Amino acid sequence: MIVDTHTHSISENNEERADIEILIGHTLSEAKNAVEKANSNDHVFATCGLYPHDVIPENEIPDGEKLKLIKELARSKKVVAIGECGLDYTNPHLPEIKRSKDAQASLFISQIEISRELNLPIIIHSRQGTEDLLDILGREMGRAPFPAVWHCFCENYETAKKALDLGLMLSITGIVTYPNAGDLRDAIKRIPLEKIMLETDSPYLIPISAKKAGVKVNSSKYVKLVAQEIAEIKGISTKEVEDRTTKNAFAFFKLK
Ligand SMILES: [Zn+2]
Repeated sequence: MIVDTHTHSISENNEERADIEILIGHTLSEAKNAVEKANSNDHVFATCGLYPHDVIPENEIPDGEKLKLIKELARSKKVVAIGECGLDYTNPHLPEIKRSKDAQASLFISQIEISRELNLPIIIHSRQGTEDLLDILGREMGRAPFPAVWHCFCENYETAKKALDLGLMLSITGIVTYPNAGDLRDAIKRIPLEKIMLETDSPYLIPISAKKAGVKVNSSKYVKLVAQEIAEIKGISTKEVEDRTTKNAFAFFKLK
């Protein structure tokens, strides 16, 4: 059994999917969609959160209002996490709208509070904000620790170590198969398998072998290729990676 702990698109076709898919609701409308899909598909679970950049037309709604609605949605039975949320200091693509660093930090901290209140783990998105992210997490974990996963982790071991020391899980995508991911592969050698989960972030981030075979859109079934790559890096069997990361995902997201 294998779990895709982070996808933005689930497939109607059973051949195209992992055994369990966690569908990310990172805007108000995506969160509603994720809850709906989870309610009508046994193998799908949902998350609810607000991405660091705002989106058109939801930018018309104040953040406080959006957070309230996200919290209500997150009480649904099949919601297993808050997020993805965090910091993104890159320039957004349309239809995304940039929030200031301060606004991102406060939105992130509000969602940490929701995750504490609803007793749900949190899925962290971080792009070019590592230092500030570790700062916020250091402070917040110091106040009251909460379960968190760093999604699409692609940093070096030094950063991995800091995240692990804060108690984070690290979630790995198809980026691990890319030629320029040497630092990440070195990190994975040293990150304990008990701290790793697998994801596709589909429809993005197609693993290299699938890309070479002509695949144009990523889907959950390719989470297997992420497991294979990690197995190769660690010199263990793909089955061991699948079994352990599945166990990790069941424990972290309290899947049943
Ligand atoms: Zn994502």
